[in-house]
Amino acid sequence: VVRAVGVRHSYGRTEVLKGVDLQVDAGEVVCLIGPSGSGKSTLLRCINHLETISGGSLWVGGHMVGYRQKGNKLYELSDKEICRRRADVGMVFQQFNLFPHMTVLQNLIEAPCRVLRHPKGAVLERAQELLERVGLSDKRDAYPAQLSGGQQQRVAIARALCMQPKLMLFDEPTSALDPELVGDVLDVMRGLAKSGMTMIVVTHEIGFARDVADRVVFLDGGRIVEDGSAEQVITTPQHIRTQEFLAAVR
Ligand code: ATP
Ligand code: MG
Repeated sequence: VVRAVGVRHSYGRTEVLKGVDLQVDAGEVVCLIGPSGSGKSTLLRCINHLETISGGSLWVGGHMVGYRQKGNKLYELSDKEICRRRADVGMVFQQFNLFPHMTVLQNLIEAPCRVLRHPKGAVLERAQELLERVGLSDKRDAYPAQLSGGQQQRVAIARALCMQPKLMLFDEPTSALDPELVGDVLDVMRGLAKSGMTMIVVTHEIGFARDVADRVVFLDGGRIVEDGSAEQVITTPQHIRTQEFLAAVR
C-alpha cells in the first residue's frame, strides 16, 4: 500500500527526512516510533500529500504521491487530483480537529457526501454503524464541545473511516488525552487493526506497539534506524539509539 524509496523532505534549508525507505503491505499495522523532531509527523504528512517530497519516490495505493506518470514523463497533480487521492487515506491527529459547529453525525457525513458525493442515505447508514463500532451511538446529536477528549478522538476515527479509506494514518492519537481516556481509543484502534485495516501509527504507547504492530519502525534524525517485528525492535533492539529511546519512554 505504501512504498517509500529514499524519501527526502526539507523545510527551507533544513532537511528533516534524509532518505527514508519504508514498505507497508495491505493489512499491515506499522508503528512508527522515535524521538521528538525525528520526522515522524513529516513522513505521515508526505504520505498524505500534505508535503511535497524533495527527493526519492513515494507510492501510496499504487499511485506516485504528487505526480502522475504518463509514458516516462511525470506531471504534477492538480489540487483536484490531490484531493481525490487523499480521500483514500484517513488521518487522525493528536488534536481531534472536529468541526466544532457540527454535530457528531454531521461531522461523519460531511466529507463523504460533499467530497465523494456518495448518496446521503448510504452515508448515514455507514455513519451510524461506525458510531456503534466506536461506542458512541448515543452521542450522534452532540456537539464536539460536549464530549470528552477520548470521545472526540473516537469520533475523529469514525469520521476518517466514513470515507472508506484504504490506509489509516495516526499521529500520536492518544498523547493529548487524560490517561484514563487513552484505553478506549486504543481499543478502537486495536479493533480496527484486527479488521484488517492497513495502518501506520505514530505512538509513544510502547505496550500498544508490542501488542498490535506487525512491524515497528524506529526513526531517528530523519532516517530509519531499525525496522522489524515488535519483538525484534522493542524487546531486542539492535541499535544503541533504539535502546536509549526505549529506555527513556518506558
Ligand atoms: P514530535 O514527536 O515532537 O511530534 P516528529 O518526529 O513528529 O516530532 P516532525 O514534526 O516531523 O517531528 O519534525 C521534524 C523536524 O522538522 C523538526 O526539527 C521540526 O522542528 C521541523 N519542522 C516540522 N514542521 C515544520 C515546519 N512547518 N516548518 C519548519 N520546520 C518544521
Ligand atoms: Mg509529530
